Amino acid sequence: MPKGFACGFFGRVKSREALCRLALAQRVGHLFVRVDFAREPREFGLVETVARNLGQVGSDADDHSGAVSRLRRKKPPQEMEMQLRIVPVNGIDPAFLSRLGLCLAERFLYDVVVERSLSLSRSCLNSTRKQLFLPTLTTRLLREYGGDGGLLLGITDFDLYKTSQRFVFGDADEHRRVAAVSLHRLRNDFYGEASDENALFQRTLKECVHELGHALGLKHCYNARCAMHYSNSIFETDNKMPHFCEVCEKRSRARSEG
Ligand SMILES: [Zn+2]
Ligand SMILES: [Zn+2]
Repeated sequence: MPKGFACGFFGRVKSREALCRLALAQRVGHLFVRVDFAREPREFGLVETVARNLGQVGSDADDHSGAVSRLRRKKPPQEMEMQLRIVPVNGIDPAFLSRLGLCLAERFLYDVVVERSLSLSRSCLNSTRKQLFLPTLTTRLLREYGGDGGLLLGITDFDLYKTSQRFVFGDADEHRRVAAVSLHRLRNDFYGEASDENALFQRTLKECVHELGHALGLKHCYNARCAMHYSNSIFETDNKMPHFCEVCEKRSRARSEG
């Protein structure tokens, strides 16, 4: 049905009729006033891909990411999206990270890459607190992976803290384009409860969306359901959605485009 609708929309032709490149440009032409379309419609690659794939994109999330990656290849170089590099600290489950990468790629339309692990020994921890000082991690991330203009996101099992903060789930620096999230307090085990991999994944996703929001320049949001709401406890993280509220979404779009 979506394909039938698309075919009808693009040329009032019957479903299953092929939409060739030239025909498509002519068919959408009447929708634009005083716009001169080039005879060779190379710039319509993106529109053409959407039309052809509408019938094949199902409700399954993988289908959508497949469609997104096909669209991505059609973008001209000046519109290439930002690259997000996820850096695991001391090895994090690769399946967990690739699932995380797919979810973040779909939300932010970043080109996501999972990098080799950053090796950090326990001697880097504060010996009294048994925690990792957040600037120690961000400095290492920038020194070993920075410099290409992309965004870095470190994922660690170490418990993180900052000056004047007992602990942080994560943090981000908009200007240095670096963010970090700790899994330590996102695990049920930390609270003496049975492990729950799915809960861990959902919490991690929410905190990563939150930190990437900061990296885009977003501030904390008063909406307790928004990913940009400040979490001081795991209950607040659980209460949040893994995406932005309407207001933050608009701001993030304005930031990405500007
Ligand atoms: Zn925050
Ligand atoms: Zn919000």
